[in-house]
Amino acid sequence: MLKTVARAVMLTSALALMASGALAQDRNAAGGPESTPFTLETDQPRTPEQEAVRFDRADVSLTVLPAEKAIRGVGVLEFTVLAPVDRLSVELDRLFEMSDVQVDGQTIAPDRWANPEGRMTIQLPRPLAAGEKTSLRIVYGGQPRTARRAPWNGGFVWSTAPGGEPWIATAVQLEGCDLIFPCIDNSNAEPGRVDLHVTVPSDLSAPGNGVFQGKMDNGDGTTTWNWSIRNPNIYAVNLNVGPFEEMSGVYQSRFGNTIPMQYWHLKSDKPEDVQRLFAEFPVMLDFFEQVIGPYPFGDEKMGVVETPHLGMEHQTLNAYGNGYKIEEEGYDTLLQHEFSHEWFANQLTNRNADHMWLHEGLGSYMQPLFARWLRGEAYMQRELADQRDGLANRFAVVSRTDRTVDQVYGGTEGPGGDIYSKGSLIAHTLHMTMGDADFFKALRTLIYGRPDPRPGNFVPQIRTTQDYNAIVNQVTGRNYDWFFNAYLYEASLPVLTQVREPSRLTLSWTTPAGVFPMPIEVEVDGRVRLVEMRNGRGTVDVRPGSVIVVDPANKVLRQSDAVDRYQAYRRAHPASGGR
Ligand SMILES: [Zn+2]
Repeated sequence: MLKTVARAVMLTSALALMASGALAQDRNAAGGPESTPFTLETDQPRTPEQEAVRFDRADVSLTVLPAEKAIRGVGVLEFTVLAPVDRLSVELDRLFEMSDVQVDGQTIAPDRWANPEGRMTIQLPRPLAAGEKTSLRIVYGGQPRTARRAPWNGGFVWSTAPGGEPWIATAVQLEGCDLIFPCIDNSNAEPGRVDLHVTVPSDLSAPGNGVFQGKMDNGDGTTTWNWSIRNPNIYAVNLNVGPFEEMSGVYQSRFGNTIPMQYWHLKSDKPEDVQRLFAEFPVMLDFFEQVIGPYPFGDEKMGVVETPHLGMEHQTLNAYGNGYKIEEEGYDTLLQHEFSHEWFANQLTNRNADHMWLHEGLGSYMQPLFARWLRGEAYMQRELADQRDGLANRFAVVSRTDRTVDQVYGGTEGPGGDIYSKGSLIAHTLHMTMGDADFFKALRTLIYGRPDPRPGNFVPQIRTTQDYNAIVNQVTGRNYDWFFNAYLYEASLPVLTQVREPSRLTLSWTTPAGVFPMPIEVEVDGRVRLVEMRNGRGTVDVRPGSVIVVDPANKVLRQSDAVDRYQAYRRAHPASGGR
């Protein structure tokens, strides 16, 4: 998900407002029917019944009724039993009416299933043993939750294109798949495959995730569009309906495969805008494939769809709502951010929302790296400096407890915007400390589960911060626990104290995490040397009149009096503008 529209300073408080305060107010003030608090959360702990099954496949048929702002759905969920069960448990928003529930073709009597709060429990006709397969079919329908402010307060977006046609999207990262179809709303329960059949008025298009499986004119003014996607991230399956045109092309990958590119845009868009954005697709693929590794879903497509909301990392069909803005970064930052999530969210998925910085922080680091790759060092440093100015450092990036997505994205009880900018700056510091070769080898291992990814030799990885720490230790042959302890698990930044004497500069690190042996470069009279800082302390010989610059290339994230003063000023003078 995109952090916010505005740039840099005080982003954090803006995001916190969007993700918590304003959101709570919207929910209370909403006149219409509202989902239960349970449904509005995602990534809550699974039930024993959910942990006892593997979610193999979902086959979801959705008929979209734009005039009624409603859908009719049939969800068929296939599971393999891992441990004996006599019940199934799935999530589905109670706003939908459920008219028929079947298990393996047998209707379940209404007194044998219940959905009190959005977590549905179904008594099985007979207990199932490990290794058995079972299929749950739910017929449902009604008006789904309308997004109050997508993508930060999500659900269905019922909009209108400039030509007056319905323009519909979904964005459910903070609420989960259960706003659209029955599923297990937990990032550990990625289905092996989702087949989507979307029926819409025949004058509209319904681009989808994964591979197009053809469309069928139903002869009644509606057309059904069929799509199939493997291993989708649970919040990345989405619905898009509108008066779209498809621009397509083929990308020749450096890994030998060819990748279809599709951009579904409104028919009313200016052709030159569409051309310009589409021309960025292969450039972004070049960058990610060269710097990180193979595009994870090259066998399906790189897809983008124009949406009435800003952006979202819908797998193989990124939501794009940036309105073709020309930005000072020199590329479309929204497209680049959402596209980075194909690696950092959809291929590498966090085990729990507590590790969301692996999506947003590593994803955000791809922007300064891309800026450097495109335009050189100054443009990378400008983006890094912008990120630095907005850090809140109120809560640790990772709490080491299970969290819901709302807790993490909201800045009132979790890190909020820091998962983006601080995550990016932590990644940059790690990069500068480890060096290019080790940093990218560790990153590839984290993302693909192996250092030598090729198309077809990897599967999606579910990861934690601890996994990343262990991979870094293994790749470097050194213990980096001190790095993760100080930067990820503590809220405050390491403080570097400098004591200048006539012939000596003494440096020492302080962090709540204990000894912090972070080496640091010091430039003395134009000559840069690396101070090792064993046990968190080091000295440099200087002369009385020496010109000294500590960390001249800004490689190490640390507390800064200048930034603290600036942030305090901005809080006291909120109308003072700034970049
Ligand atoms: Zn994001």
